[in-house]
Amino acid sequence: MNEPLAPSESNAEVKRYARRDFIKKALFAVAGLLVPQTLVASKELEGAPEWVLADGYKPGEHYWAMGIDTRKCIGCGRCVEACKTENNVPREPFYFRTWVERYRINADGETFVDSPNGAIDGFPDDPTDKNVMRTFFVPKLCNHCDNPPCVQVCPVGATYKSPDGVVLVDQDYCIGCRYCIQACPYGARFLHPVTKTAEKCTFCYHRITKGLLPACVEACPTQARVFGEVRRKASPLQRFLRMNRIGILKPYLNTKPKVFYANLDGEVN
Ligand code: SF4
Ligand code: SF4
Repeated sequence: MNEPLAPSESNAEVKRYARRDFIKKALFAVAGLLVPQTLVASKELEGAPEWVLADGYKPGEHYWAMGIDTRKCIGCGRCVEACKTENNVPREPFYFRTWVERYRINADGETFVDSPNGAIDGFPDDPTDKNVMRTFFVPKLCNHCDNPPCVQVCPVGATYKSPDGVVLVDQDYCIGCRYCIQACPYGARFLHPVTKTAEKCTFCYHRITKGLLPACVEACPTQARVFGEVRRKASPLQRFLRMNRIGILKPYLNTKPKVFYANLDGEVN
């Protein structure tokens, strides 16, 4: 088993880009108003194009989301490997920013779900299991919820939603209390074993703010993952949303996920 890796430079970039600039500029923008910290970084200040972060990126001009077509996913795990490498996610099992689950439904209607080591090496075939009628793969990650419970419970405002819809963690502010980890209904967060701060998918914020795709999207050989702007009609994501029957995970929780699934089986939760 590998030693835990040090927090990545990309994490440092996320911190640098996101929290300080947002809060500084947000506070400037609302000078004289008493606005709770959680609101400063979320709804109240969405659409503030005058904020310019590093590299000229303007969060108020974007609104990001991901699409995943479960019929295209072959469970190869390249996205998991790409994510771990890009973001220096600890190599041990149980530390994942994204992972892939395999659903197997047998003739009796029973459903079995597994994800060996997050599927970083794909899935072993099981030729002995003749009873399985249907198998499919479901990549998972932080849903960058529009109504994120993780943000609501953070006692120090370290977890916040940026104006471009990406839910981020400022590791300088995070006190490692784990409230957000418990509050996330999707199991998308973990406590980093070295920094003892909360971590999760950032949509590769250090990449998307430079006009690049998240590493998992770039690595997927079947284009099962699509990334783009929710609010731009010409974006690949908008086309994905228009062309497919779309589902989200746990819609009854009203978290309003921004990871949209095409052809999502009713067995998936
Ligand atoms: Fe927060 Fe979990 Fe939603 Fe991500 S999936 S925004 S960690 S509640
Ligand atoms: Fe599925 Fe693409 Fe990930 Fe392979 S890289 S497991 S096809 S989403």
